[in-house]
Amino acid sequence: MNRALPAACAAALALSAVGARPAAAASVGTTAEGRLEGGFRLPLAGTWHRFAGPVRTRGTNYASLELAALIARAARTVARAVPGAPMVIGDASVEGGGAVARHASHRSGRDVDLLFYVRDARGRSVPSPGFRAFDGRGRCVAEGCSLRLDVPRTWWMIRTLLASRRPAVQYLFIAEPLARLLLAHARRRGEHPALLARAERVLHQPSDSTAHDDHIHLRVYCASADRPACVDTGPRWPWVDEDGRAETIAPERRRRVRPGSAAPAR
Ligand SMILES: [Zn+2]
Repeated sequence: MNRALPAACAAALALSAVGARPAAAASVGTTAEGRLEGGFRLPLAGTWHRFAGPVRTRGTNYASLELAALIARAARTVARAVPGAPMVIGDASVEGGGAVARHASHRSGRDVDLLFYVRDARGRSVPSPGFRAFDGRGRCVAEGCSLRLDVPRTWWMIRTLLASRRPAVQYLFIAEPLARLLLAHARRRGEHPALLARAERVLHQPSDSTAHDDHIHLRVYCASADRPACVDTGPRWPWVDEDGRAETIAPERRRRVRPGSAAPAR
């Protein structure tokens, strides 16, 4: 395997002691019809993340190397910026890719469902118990659920994903009221304009599936090493080049922004 590993993959490599490092890996075809050769097996639990319970039995903790690295990096970055409970992750892909029950996509290692960061009724950061729906004020609307959306931590996850150069993020599917809540928080924090501009395009409520009020669906573009076998569908955003790399956002400007209060959303 001669694939050059970007620095961005360091997080995935750090996981390789417990995860399975493929000899050769490729996301092939589209997210709806493709497959995943030699996918990276993310550990079911690590220092900064864990997969939701059903993932263990479904075996849906496989992703492209690039997506695995991004997930690991985002989980670690959030934990360091706003310490608290680990990121909780739903389905990615199965070993070898292909169809995943209940999903139209997730076939080629470039899709993953991310649960929201949450707080309990007393404001403590707790791991998400699973898929729970939230309204546009960040209140859990599931029966008997008193959780609140942890807006600062969830935004920090989103901004970390959006700042990624390789892989670049194509979509974050999320319900419109939740996107508005998170964007309002980001603007109040004085977020970098380039990150805000990306978020306004990428945070998107899909018209042809569920509302995504209980998780965020992350999709990344094909890695340059996987092209042309890997096929993107849908838009290519203005900040993404034809090899699927996003423009760099100047880090000196990113540093000025702070995550904000860890208090529960009101
Ligand atoms: Zn999904």
